[in-house]
Amino acid sequence: MTAARWSILYRGPLSSCNYGCDYCPFAKTRNTKAELKHDAECLNRFCDWVASRPEQIGILFTPWGEGMIHRYYQEAMCRLSHLPNVWRVAAQTNLSFPVESLQDCHRKTTALWTTYHPTETTIPRFTAKCAELRDAGIRHSVGVVGKREAFDDIRALRTALPEETYLWINAWKREKDYYTEEELHMLRGIDPHFDFNAVPHPSLGRACRAGESAFTVDGAGDARRCHFIPGLIGNIYQPDFEQALQPRSCSIAECRCHIGYVHLEHLRLDSIFGESLLERIPLSFGFSSGAGEG
Ligand code: SF4
Ligand code: SF4
Repeated sequence: MTAARWSILYRGPLSSCNYGCDYCPFAKTRNTKAELKHDAECLNRFCDWVASRPEQIGILFTPWGEGMIHRYYQEAMCRLSHLPNVWRVAAQTNLSFPVESLQDCHRKTTALWTTYHPTETTIPRFTAKCAELRDAGIRHSVGVVGKREAFDDIRALRTALPEETYLWINAWKREKDYYTEEELHMLRGIDPHFDFNAVPHPSLGRACRAGESAFTVDGAGDARRCHFIPGLIGNIYQPDFEQALQPRSCSIAECRCHIGYVHLEHLRLDSIFGESLLERIPLSFGFSSGAGEG
C-alpha cells in the first residue's frame, strides 16, 4: 500500500518577533528564556514524531512570530529536510535570520515563505538576503501585504528580484472595496495569482483536504483541521491518530488565507502550485538557482 501523504502546518507556543510591524499583534513581543526552552522542546518532540512516521510528510512552520531567528528552528529545518519521509519543510519568515544557518539543509526539500515588511527593513537589505538564498540554492517565495503605502515598495521589489522569483501580494481585506480598478490592474500585473487572495472563498459545505490529508499541529501535539476552525480532531502523540483523518467539508462560511483555501478541492490550486503549495511558489516560477536542486 502506498504511504499516505500529509501536509502539516506546525505552530508551537512561540509568540515573539524581532520586528514591529504595525499590522501585527506579535510586534515587539518577547518570550522569556523558559518559554523559548519550552518552545524548543515542543518542536524537537514534533521532529521526533515526524521521523517515526510511515507517511510522506510536508511541513510548513507558521509561527505566531518569528521562528527562524532561533537556532533550534534552524536546526529543526535542517534535520527534517534530510528525513526520507519528508517531501517538504518550509517556514514563514521575515528573512532576518542568517542564511548560512541553513547551509546543511537538503536543498530538494527545503523552502521558505519570506515576507518583506516595509517598516522593518529596506529593499536593498531584503533583496540582498534573497540573493543569498539564491546563491545557496534555497527555494523561496517573496511576499508583501498589499496596503496602499506599500505600493512603491512592491514595484521596487518586482524590479529588484529576478523574474523567476514569485512575488505574491496579500490583499488588504480588512477594508471593503479597498482597491480601485486601476490598482487591481497594477497588482495583478505583479502577482498573476492576486485574484485568488483578493476575495474570501465561500467554503461552507465544500470539500476541503484540511482534516484529511492536511492539518495543523500545536506544541502539545493537538491537531485541528486548519488554523481557522478551532475544534480538535485528535492529538498526534496518541496511538492511532491517523484514524482522526477523514474526508470532510468545510464548516465555516468562507476561507480567506492561502494556507487554508489552497486545500479547497474545487479551486484546484495544486495545478498552479504543484509540490510547492506550502511555500507558495507557482510551477511557472520554480526558479532553479543551482546548488543541490533537482
Ligand atoms: S515580521 Fe511577521 S510576526 Fe513579526 S511583527 Fe512583522 S508581521 Fe508580525
Ligand atoms: S476551507 Fe479553509 S476554513 Fe474551511 S476547512 Fe478548509 S482550510 Fe479550513
